[in-house]
Amino acid sequence: MRVFLALALLGFASLNASAESGLDHNAIRTAEDLRDAAMRGSKGYGIVESLTTEVGPRMGGSEAYDRATVWAQAKFKALGYDKVWLQPVTFPVWQRRSESARVISPFPQPLVLTALGGSESTLGNLRAEVVEFADLDALKATPDGSLVGKIAFINLRMLRAKDGSGYGPVSNVRRAGASEAARKGASALLIRSVGTDSDRLPHTGMMRYEDGVVKIPAAALSVPDADLLANMLRRGKPVTVELNIQAGFTGSKTEYNVIGEITGRSKPEQVVIIGGHLDSWDLGTGAIDDGAGIAITMAAGALIGDLKQAPKRTIRVIAFANEEQGLLGGKAYAEAMKGLMDKHQLGAESDFGAGRIYALHSGVSEESRPVIARIAKVLEPLGILPAEGGGPGPDISPSVPYGLPWVELQQDGTDYFDYHHTANDTLDKINAKDLDQQVAAYAVLAYLSAETDVDIRPEAPKAEN
Ligand SMILES: [Zn+2]
Repeated sequence: MRVFLALALLGFASLNASAESGLDHNAIRTAEDLRDAAMRGSKGYGIVESLTTEVGPRMGGSEAYDRATVWAQAKFKALGYDKVWLQPVTFPVWQRRSESARVISPFPQPLVLTALGGSESTLGNLRAEVVEFADLDALKATPDGSLVGKIAFINLRMLRAKDGSGYGPVSNVRRAGASEAARKGASALLIRSVGTDSDRLPHTGMMRYEDGVVKIPAAALSVPDADLLANMLRRGKPVTVELNIQAGFTGSKTEYNVIGEITGRSKPEQVVIIGGHLDSWDLGTGAIDDGAGIAITMAAGALIGDLKQAPKRTIRVIAFANEEQGLLGGKAYAEAMKGLMDKHQLGAESDFGAGRIYALHSGVSEESRPVIARIAKVLEPLGILPAEGGGPGPDISPSVPYGLPWVELQQDGTDYFDYHHTANDTLDKINAKDLDQQVAAYAVLAYLSAETDVDIRPEAPKAEN
């Protein structure tokens, strides 16, 4: 029906713009006002300042995450959200207890590293010779059994890129390296940190053991320490390292996605979802990952809540639990909502630091595209242009196969991996004006997609590989 109407109106370019997008002049003007108000100064920075100061690190499974939950509920209420509720997420708890390493010979000195999330412990001190590999393929190519009694060291450098495209290949080393090394007989894995900085601060992040493969401890050296170790190895003599990692899984815990809603005025059962993840790693204060995303989307929702008249549909802001250890909050949301996904008008997540947004990507049906195009026009003065490609944010991605239409507001991630998952992920890396631009973008996106007469439908599923 919508298709027919759209076709019938072709040729009336100036008229059909509003018919196809389902957005009238008033809606557009309200969105422009939201945008301009956020740009004059939003609540974004104050929210992330509050979260990093009053809670700080809040790793999934920790007591600190429970405090973050209380913080988020109180913040939603203080910001005037109509409804605040919790959605349970249960998972095995991983703990980091202690970690240290040093070179024993030929040039004794300490090394700076951190255990990867999910890693098991060494049995006391593990002392072994180090064998270096350029990447995962080089490790895979080494003969089976050749690493018995050795530590495998993968020294793959991450490339800096505005769109974060350097992350994929190196994060794959982090995720899969331990089981590949164990298959060759290694007793531990060291990797070069997945980061673009040169700080002596290692980057943690999740790893996974394959079923049926020995679980060897895995840790990341800071970038300068990876260079140091490589320089020793280049001299051609065996290099022996002593490693002591104490970490592992202990029991299970239930945590919560914290959800705040601005109730829609005429279709309250239909929802636009925006959000970020409330958990962080334990090393920094979780400012850019992902306090920023929480702050941006909470502030954007609050701005809409302050309007005299709510949009037609409900704005649901989700602070997801335990993204870092495997999108656990996002998976719990998808599982709980899969029967209601047709009530989901649109989803968008902010989880790529605090750099400005410069592109809009979408995964919606052909018929829904005029809505997105109209939204993009309101975003244009913010320096945001529509672009092909992209993908949904991590926590909303499990909902996409159930039919969630999505938008990605792509941020400038040039500096993101200098700090990501390190002790350096702290508030000073965030610029308040940059956050305002993002609050403006999310407010416009959420408001207009909640207000349009068009029901946004998902992109047709892609063929299975
Ligand atoms: Zn994140």
